[in-house]
Amino acid sequence: MYEQLEQLIRLQGLDREAARLAQKLAEIAPQIEETRNLLAAAERAEAEGKAGVETAKKQRRAAEKDLEAQIEKRRKFQEQQSKVKTNKEYQALMGELEALKLEETAAEDRILTQMEAQAEAERLLPGLSAEVGREKAEFQQKERVLRDAEQKLRGELAATEAARAAIVTVVEPASLEVYQRVLKLRGSAVAEVRDEFCMGCSTKVPAQNYMEAMRNDRILFCPHCRRILYHVKAEVRPAAVEAPVSEAGPAA
Ligand SMILES: [Zn+2]
Repeated sequence: MYEQLEQLIRLQGLDREAARLAQKLAEIAPQIEETRNLLAAAERAEAEGKAGVETAKKQRRAAEKDLEAQIEKRRKFQEQQSKVKTNKEYQALMGELEALKLEETAAEDRILTQMEAQAEAERLLPGLSAEVGREKAEFQQKERVLRDAEQKLRGELAATEAARAAIVTVVEPASLEVYQRVLKLRGSAVAEVRDEFCMGCSTKVPAQNYMEAMRNDRILFCPHCRRILYHVKAEVRPAAVEAPVSEAGPAA
């Protein structure tokens, strides 16, 4: 096969490999981010749990203060009891004391409610903390695996790019220019011609072009898509490549 053609085929293989590696590299960061988000969610839940305990404590203390104030108020009213002269005054005082008693009961209820809320929040806290521990371990483990994979991919990409750079130096500038242009336009620049069809654009090429392309001895273009054509003999085509049944029979 014409050496330039061989180099272009190799170049395309390396470009595809580089694109595949770059794609896999681009997928690493979102995967790390996803695991990090799970950890962040667990940490948020734990922080909310702790805040719930603190809120309950604060509200209980406020209710306790209320109660103390109510008790003090009632004590002062009770002191007046001995100074009461008329029945009317006595009735008014009793009414006040009754109202104060109700407020005290309400404050006591609030204290109980907040104590229960605090106990419930404290009961949930160890589970939330354990979840943070689990997610943290999971995150660290996954991140390590993904960072290792990333490093490996970077190494492979660097090797692929080095191999590509070496080929670029030996490909004729005119061929390289066509290669780059068609690659940009069509996503691939070199195509096999098989049974008279360009495998790049699935269009039948004229018999004359096909005969010339079968010789693999110069740079030829598909007249339809401008891809550079090459031919692979059916008997050397890898069996893994899905090939239509041809006159030559099944691939070796
Ligand atoms: Zn074509």
